[in-house]
Amino acid sequence: MAEQPLHHLSAGHRRATPALFLDIDGTVREGRDDALGRFVNGPDDVRVFPAAVEMMRRWRAGGGRVVGVSNQGGIALGHVTPDQVAAAMVETQRQTGGLFDQIAWCCHHPDAEHPELARCWCRKPGVGLVIAASLTMSHHFGEYYPPYMGLMVGDRPEDQECAARAGLDFQWAAQWRAQADPDPAPPDPPAS
Ligand SMILES: [Zn+2]
Repeated sequence: MAEQPLHHLSAGHRRATPALFLDIDGTVREGRDDALGRFVNGPDDVRVFPAAVEMMRRWRAGGGRVVGVSNQGGIALGHVTPDQVAAAMVETQRQTGGLFDQIAWCCHHPDAEHPELARCWCRKPGVGLVIAASLTMSHHFGEYYPPYMGLMVGDRPEDQECAARAGLDFQWAAQWRAQADPDPAPPDPPAS
């Protein structure tokens, strides 16, 4: 890209690094609207899209970080347990071959009875997951993540709104995965 990172803004010589923020259900793995037909409840439900893995691999090959940011309000509503959600994330990471640098999720839902479960700063379209994950990675890797270098991919309006609030470019999941071209057209037959 044309812009050069503004190194003088960064204390301690941290590297400006592109970060890819990925919604999980319906983006990286099949969700309710895909072949699964329901929410992912546990590790047995996890089916990662091969095209998503390929796109993640390309981003990592370019020197970027890959972060999952997922609303898991079923925890607050009592539909799934925190352990089930965590196990499904571990399985998601396993099926990608370990391409995630981090996966962060919100366990709250506005319809929950207790205010501790109903109110939060992390549920998308809030930007809390994006910021918290970025700070954690910055501390761990000695990098920083200028929004202009980053990208958010998702399949819901709240993902698009979260990207806008965070200053990130946004791409719809289906279009993002289509770039992987996992099933290229066969080559032309040799001329005879
Ligand atoms: Zn939350």
